Amino acid sequence: MNSRRNFLFKLAFSAGTPALLCSRAFGQAPPPVKLEESDPVATALGYKEDTAKVDAQKYPMHKPEQKCSGCALYTGKPGEPSGPCSAFGNKIVTANGWCAAFALKPVAPATPPTPAPAQ
Ligand code: SF4
Repeated sequence: MNSRRNFLFKLAFSAGTPALLCSRAFGQAPPPVKLEESDPVATALGYKEDTAKVDAQKYPMHKPEQKCSGCALYTGKPGEPSGPCSAFGNKIVTANGWCAAFALKPVAPATPPTPAPAQ
């Protein structure tokens, strides 16, 4: 076997290559990235990891009870400390965070009572 063929053979069966090829073939999403307050877009929108640290002078519309976990753009699971935000390309924000793009999550309509069975 010539050296080039030998090299390609070794590359194809090296430890990381099959996993890399499988993740590409099945379209796995890249690992989540945390949104840093220093991110230029985050800075422009006044993002803070802690809603209590929002600049009230600069963002008078901010209310202390507003948090990422209550924002329509937050897709994290309830009770978890952080989750993706669609406003920032699904970067991970803290559940207690806030930015100027905050949009109150719509409240789910109450389910109507189940009618009693006919007797
Ligand atoms: S858009 Fe909503 S979830 Fe995203 S950082 Fe701003 S307040 Fe948090």
